[in-house]
Amino acid sequence: MNFISTRDQTAPATLATALRAGLAPDGGLYVPESLPAFSPADLAGCSDLPATAEQVLADFFADSELTDELATICREALDLPLPLTGIGPYTWMLELHHGPTAAFKDFAARFLAACLQRLRKEDEPEQTVIVATSGDTGAAVAAAFHRRPGFRVVILYPDGRVSERQAHQLGCFGDNITTFRVDGDFDTCQRLAKWALGDADLARQLALTSANSISIGRLLPQIAYFVHATAALWRSIEQPVDVIVPTGNLGNALAAILAREIGLPIGEVVLATNANRTLPDFFSGQRYRGRPGIRTLANAMDVGDPSNFERLAWFFRDRDLRDAGIDADTVDDDTIRSTIKTVFDGEGRVICPHTACAMAVLARRREAGNRQPTVIAATAHPAKFDSVVEPLIGRSVALPPALAELMERPSRAEALEGSIEAFRERLKAWQR
Ligand SMILES: *Cc1c(COP(=O)(O)O)cnc(C)c1O
Repeated sequence: MNFISTRDQTAPATLATALRAGLAPDGGLYVPESLPAFSPADLAGCSDLPATAEQVLADFFADSELTDELATICREALDLPLPLTGIGPYTWMLELHHGPTAAFKDFAARFLAACLQRLRKEDEPEQTVIVATSGDTGAAVAAAFHRRPGFRVVILYPDGRVSERQAHQLGCFGDNITTFRVDGDFDTCQRLAKWALGDADLARQLALTSANSISIGRLLPQIAYFVHATAALWRSIEQPVDVIVPTGNLGNALAAILAREIGLPIGEVVLATNANRTLPDFFSGQRYRGRPGIRTLANAMDVGDPSNFERLAWFFRDRDLRDAGIDADTVDDDTIRSTIKTVFDGEGRVICPHTACAMAVLARRREAGNRQPTVIAATAHPAKFDSVVEPLIGRSVALPPALAELMERPSRAEALEGSIEAFRERLKAWQR
C-alpha cells in the first residue's frame, strides 16, 4: 500500500518512506491510500494482540520492504499485557499502561522502533531520533530505542512541567539517549524539534528523524488494540461499544475512529480532553481554532492545537465531521481531582489524571441516562502521577515492576535554553 500526504502535494510514498520521514515533504501528515475492511468474525482466530495486529496491519504492509517482517515486528513490539477489565454494568477499562514506561505510548514507540531498525541499511549513518515530549512520549521512545545499534535519541521536555517520576524516567536511560530539560513549555520543545528536522545545514551533519505522534508508524499499532478489544467484546455481548479516549494530540482517539472505519462494531468515539478545549469547542459547532496549550493535571494532554486533527479532517473530507459519531467533552482540574477520589472511594480503583478525564465523561453520560456498552481507555499507570494521585486517595500507589526498575537507575538531563541558537550550539559537536 502507498501512503499519501493530507496536503496532496507529495507523490505517493511507500510504507518505508512514510515511516522514515515522519512528516511528508509538503508539511502534511502521511495517511494510507485506503483502509482494509474487517468484521469481528474475521478476527475470531486471533488469540492475542500480536496476532490481531498482524492481520489488521497486513494490507498497510503489503508490497513493502517489511511485508515479511510484520509478524515478527508485532510479536516483538506488541506482546504486552492488555487487560480488558469489567468496571461496572456494560462498562470496561482497556488498560494500555502495562508496557516498560507505563503509558499507552509504549505500544506505538516499540512498534516504530522495530520497524525503523529493520529498515536501516548496514552502511547507513547513525540515525538521530528527535522527540519533543510533554511527559510520556519521550520515555516510551527512549525505552524503545535504548541500546538499539544505529540509533541515537534526543529528548526535549519542558523543565518543571512534567511529574517528578516522569522527569526521572526521561533522564534515566543514558547510553544512546540524550535528554534535554528545556527552559520553556511543550510548544517550545516542539518548535526546537521542528526546526532541527527542517534545517538543511543540520541535515548535512546528522541523519535526523522524528518519533512524535504525527508518525504513521505510531498510529497503525494503536488501531490494532482497539480492534482487538472491541472484536473480543462483540464476541461476548454482540453489541457495538462506545469508546471514550483521553485525548491530547488526537493520536490514540484517531486510532479508535479508524478501528471503526475499518469495520469494527464501535458506536460513538468520545474524546475526553482536559481543560484544553479546542476539540470539544469544534465538536460543539465552533470553527476549529488551535490555541496555546494550558497546563493541567493531565499534562500529557496539554495540547491546544492537536496535530492529528489534520489527519482526522482528511479521513472525513467527504463527510460532515460533526456528524460522524464523534463526541468530545472537556474536564477541568477540579473534576479530575474529584473523579480520582470518587473512583477510588467507590471502586477501590486508582486511576491516573488522564484516565480520570475519560471516567468523568463516562459519569456525565451515565447520569444523563446513557446505557451504551462503553470501553474506557486507561492511558497511564497512576504511579507515574503519584504527586497528584496520592494526596487525593490518602495512600501510596505501588510502582509497577517496570517503573520501579527505571526509578532505581540514576537520572540525568542537560539544561537547555529554549532557543534555536542554544540547541544548534549543542548539536554542533555531534557528527553523523
Ligand atoms: C499522550 C497521552 C495522552 C494523549 O494521547 P493523544 O494520542 O496525544 O491524544 C493521554 N494520556 C496519556 C497518559 C498520555 O501519555
